[in-house]
Amino acid sequence: MIKAVFLDRDGTIVEDTGYVHKVEDFKLLPNSIKGLRKLGKFMIFIVTNQSGIGRGVYKLEDFKKFNNKMIGELGKHKIKIKKIYYCPHTPEDDCDCRKPKIKFLEEAKKEFKINLKSSFVIGDQKADIELGKNGNCKSILVLTGNGNKTKKDINADFVAEDLLDVAKWILKNDK
Ligand SMILES: [Mg+2]
Ligand SMILES: [Zn+2]
Repeated sequence: MIKAVFLDRDGTIVEDTGYVHKVEDFKLLPNSIKGLRKLGKFMIFIVTNQSGIGRGVYKLEDFKKFNNKMIGELGKHKIKIKKIYYCPHTPEDDCDCRKPKIKFLEEAKKEFKINLKSSFVIGDQKADIELGKNGNCKSILVLTGNGNKTKKDINADFVAEDLLDVAKWILKNDK
């Protein structure tokens, strides 16, 4: 049985400056490294809505370059991201992959034999918390990014200051 953490990217791992996509704007949030390092026994995934691609704000290639930068920086600290799932559509596209839809959770479950019930979804937006609920995972809101605005209208299993706080809670509640 494989347990996973499904993390949002923008506002959760990296600073979100709004449609962040330029490598020059790449900046890890405080405690991202410390938190992710503690989660070594989990398979780590990113699930991210990237409507900036669908809106033409930036290209898929920009998104991938930014990811490569992030993967490189995390790799220096021996943090391995198993796979990055992304939705390039806009809400108007009404696709089947945009969070809080669980298509990517189902794909990970199938491809990597993930037990969703023992897994965690982490993010700073309502869609992240709903993704966790819809996928039968535990959901954790981080107060980085948009989290402070989000916290009043969601019902997460835990509200964390940052990813280090997230990791501590997960390790305590992992059974
Ligand atoms: Mg976010
Ligand atoms: Zn989509």
